[in-house]
Amino acid sequence: MKLKPHLIIFLFSIAFGCKTLEEKSIHLNIEKDTKEIFDSLVEIRRDFHQNPELAGNEIRTAKMITKHLLSLGLEVKTGIAGNGVIGILKGSGDGKNIAWRADMDAIPSDFSDDASYKSKVKGLQHGCGHDVHMAIGLGIAEVLAKNKEAINGTIYFIFQPEEETFVGAKNMVTTSEFSTMNLDEIYALHVTALPVGQIMVKPNELYAYQKRIQITFKDNLSKEEAKDLYDTIRTETLRKKDGVNPWEIPKAFDSAIGLSNPNTVFKDYLFLEENFVTEEANNQFHIKGYLYETDKSNLPNILSKIEQAINNTTFKDQFISVSYIQGNPTVLNDEELTSKAMNLLNDLYGDETAVMNYGQIPYFNDDFIYFQQKVPGVYFLLGGSNYEKEIVAMNHAPNFRVDEKCIKVGVASFSSLILERANVK
Ligand SMILES: [Zn+2]
Repeated sequence: MKLKPHLIIFLFSIAFGCKTLEEKSIHLNIEKDTKEIFDSLVEIRRDFHQNPELAGNEIRTAKMITKHLLSLGLEVKTGIAGNGVIGILKGSGDGKNIAWRADMDAIPSDFSDDASYKSKVKGLQHGCGHDVHMAIGLGIAEVLAKNKEAINGTIYFIFQPEEETFVGAKNMVTTSEFSTMNLDEIYALHVTALPVGQIMVKPNELYAYQKRIQITFKDNLSKEEAKDLYDTIRTETLRKKDGVNPWEIPKAFDSAIGLSNPNTVFKDYLFLEENFVTEEANNQFHIKGYLYETDKSNLPNILSKIEQAINNTTFKDQFISVSYIQGNPTVLNDEELTSKAMNLLNDLYGDETAVMNYGQIPYFNDDFIYFQQKVPGVYFLLGGSNYEKEIVAMNHAPNFRVDEKCIKVGVASFSSLILERANVK
């Protein structure tokens, strides 16, 4: 990853207005400082990788983060909503309050791992890449600490526990430490199967809405009856483009039909997951399954569509009701900040650094939305795959691996972004 020095003067004049040469050179410093600490960040990432901790139990992880932030000279607050840690970096002048968030927890997983730094804890792995997120967060803190004379405003590094269980962010935003930060903007990323070097972002919803539905009947249905009926409902409610199905996640990262294509098959869809469960309770029979919808405004109408589909079958007389029993809000990027961030990253680091995402991935979500409900923010997807080296950073997959070069990309790009956003008058 390289800055484009020959374009700097021209592009800076567009992106930032009239800046002095001294102000422009700060991003060259950021790139240089990132390169210098890259090896140490890889070591940090591998240490987290070897010592994964489950949601709610990020004790060693929090200690390591605290130690590192203190060594950089940051003020540190610990024990926030459990094992959360906040590092505070004050710039040299007044400006905005900007936060960068990294999640801390690992996942239950026992897939084979041939890395020399594989997990030392049986049954636990950093299979979602949060070890990479923490290394990047600490890297940005280190780079910006080195360049704090150029920062106006205050940067908050939020290390958040319990993301996988979707409770960490929700708990953190209720703390007094969160309200006293008085944040203007917040940013975060997730490593994904995109090629290393690439950053992808989208205004508004980044993922599909996931809802759990429950359909209730008077009498029990046999296994076969339940499957037939559920399949009928799936067919009747399905909405998708021709071609690849939106549940075929690996295709989301294919440049021809994936998220980077304006005509991607990963937009404007509704589907029910193939798997469902049944339950007998209180003399009633329930079928429960998950659906994925890209358009929030369709959510209220889906239930009546399901009702209609059932009323056209022989199960009509046994049918009692259908309802949503579970569903989280989904990551929602601020439109204006997304566009500003994209322009800035591409101006600084090359036109293809940040590409537009035109789709919404099903199955995945992030509790970062609870921060975004309080503060305008942007959540980025960061490429971690290197197909030539057979590294595919497909989160939670058995062969999840990350090209650690993405740490360099993340640290330089987002140090630049945060510094510029803090300095906006
Ligand atoms: Zn994750």
